[in-house]
Amino acid sequence: MFKLIDSHNHLQDHRLSPHRAQVIADMKREGIEHAIVNGTSEADWQDVQELHISNPEFLSSAFGLHPWKVKDRSPEWLEKLRHFLKNPRASIGECGLDQWIIEANIIDQVAVLRDHIKLSRELDRPLTLHCLKAWPELFALLKESKPIPPFLLHSFGGPSHLIKPLLKLGAHFSFSGYFLHERKRKALENFRLIPEDRLMVETDAPDMAPPKSLLTPYQNDNFHHPADLRWSIKGLAELRGESPKCCAEQCRSNSIRLFALTSVS
Ligand SMILES: [Zn+2]
Repeated sequence: MFKLIDSHNHLQDHRLSPHRAQVIADMKREGIEHAIVNGTSEADWQDVQELHISNPEFLSSAFGLHPWKVKDRSPEWLEKLRHFLKNPRASIGECGLDQWIIEANIIDQVAVLRDHIKLSRELDRPLTLHCLKAWPELFALLKESKPIPPFLLHSFGGPSHLIKPLLKLGAHFSFSGYFLHERKRKALENFRLIPEDRLMVETDAPDMAPPKSLLTPYQNDNFHHPADLRWSIKGLAELRGESPKCCAEQCRSNSIRLFALTSVS
């Protein structure tokens, strides 16, 4: 069985709470040897930290303000973020820009993301970025950041013409099984264009479920089970004309490098 790293999920989510021990056991059974758990707001950072502390080999933590949560931040959010980043193994995320949500305040989002980028440079931590319908703004912000910290564009659904310029800025791109839905064909096709040394895989669980046609034993109507990653990566491998094992190994070594996963060998 090939080994996998889930480069982006939200295991702290309350929908997973009643099932968490079983979910983690299922992930391990399906070859997932490590996962990066991303916080989204001040309200869940503590839960992410506790998950990391109770599963230090299996999970890494990332702390950030998701663009949907920017409007709810407290005046002390940046100080709190610094506090959680005292753990030297923690990275920064999920943060980013989103103009898909109703009443997106992009000026506010850009200011908050700029603070995340500054902190990532100062503390030398990789960044996990979310972007929906704000690619020109994100690209401009990354370009003005010198030097640009190492970053992952999670569930990359941006335009294909930006892939090359983003690669030049050092971008890594992660694939989600959600792109295997027929309606996401355009986003899926982009993953033919990502060089093998910049590619990762993720679940974004408990959201972004792959199509039911994958027929995994873990599919259910309430949440995306992260053990489905084993089935999702087959779709990516098929698209790229690679074996699932080869694709998984490449994504795994990219995750180890970007997130400095010293506990995974
Ligand atoms: Zn996410």
